[in-house]
Amino acid sequence: MHTITLIRGDGIGPEITDATLTVIEAAGVKIKWEEVSAGEGAIAKHGTPLPEEVIVSLKKNKVGLKGPLTTPIGSGFRSINVALRMELDLYANLRPSKTFPGVRSLYKDIDLVVVRENTEDLYSGVEHMVGHDAAESIKIITRKASERIVRFAFDYALKNNRNKVTAVHKANILKLSDGLFLETARAVAEKYPQIEFEDRIVDNMAMQLVQKPQLYDVLVMPNLYGDILSDLCAGLVGGLGLVPGANIGDEAALFEPVHGSAPKYTGQNRVNPSAMIMAAVLMLGYLGETEAAARIEEALAALIKEGKDVTVDLGGVAGTAEMAAALAKRIRG
Ligand code: NAD
Repeated sequence: MHTITLIRGDGIGPEITDATLTVIEAAGVKIKWEEVSAGEGAIAKHGTPLPEEVIVSLKKNKVGLKGPLTTPIGSGFRSINVALRMELDLYANLRPSKTFPGVRSLYKDIDLVVVRENTEDLYSGVEHMVGHDAAESIKIITRKASERIVRFAFDYALKNNRNKVTAVHKANILKLSDGLFLETARAVAEKYPQIEFEDRIVDNMAMQLVQKPQLYDVLVMPNLYGDILSDLCAGLVGGLGLVPGANIGDEAALFEPVHGSAPKYTGQNRVNPSAMIMAAVLMLGYLGETEAAARIEEALAALIKEGKDVTVDLGGVAGTAEMAAALAKRIRG
């Protein structure tokens, strides 16, 4: 029995969480969920979008599953997602983008993994106004964070039979910050001679990912480039509704869909639960429940390929709950 922290999230979060729990239950994995509330929904009750109990629960259970959270723009509250990653030192953000047969997408054969550094860069939150008419945000890159994220990418490649790691940067312009990232990446790469290593400048990488994504395998990069390019990779395989994310540290891990809370669809039983279901698949793999993880992934791929009991964005007419029920039935066999 695993005890896992559950955050349903805002907007469409509760609907896709219900769908995901239905599917996990069908796979027969025994989980005790410890539910805590974060995000917009927590403000009314706790006066803060990130109550202390969330951090306490995650530190205790070490594994969490989370729906998307709404960060009110300009409210003075810091992004809860960023705060969670920093608090728990979840330094690696893993975002696999893989083609599901049957999904309308630009390419049919994509299998990319973005490994995004999760704790520094322009997301360190160090910014200030310079008078009224200028603002400065500080980009922080350290050798320590660069080294551990590149090592994480290579270790992931080794464990998952991947052949190549590509470091993405803008070291031609940002000679000190991205220069340090690239120099560190090259040094780490030397310790993994069995894995091919190369680097790309981020603008060229964006174009190459659109034109020749099949040439790439595992991509590792600082925070901001990872944020942007992982959404690009999601676009290559058919959209945000399909792509999961994992935030992993040495002590804890938090799994979530890459997409946000899509407030305009709240309560409509309309959105695709696949990204959160795939986040649960990553979580089950992390917990060592590899057989259940594989069973869910295979059943989801088969359901999507058949194209009948799937949501509107996948070309079907099923609601979120109906898609989950069809998937659960398929998993039970
Ligand atoms: P979003 O991902 O919520 O939605 C963008 C669009 O993508 C939606 O309008 C919808 O068309 C589509 N989409 C997203 N998820 C889908 C799904 N499961 N099925 C089908 N279509 C789907 O991005 P946004 O509108 O920029 O952000 C809304 C809120 O979410 C913001 O407050 C933002 O801060 C937050 N957000 C949270 C996270 C997170 O918690 N990890 C990530 C991104 C954005």
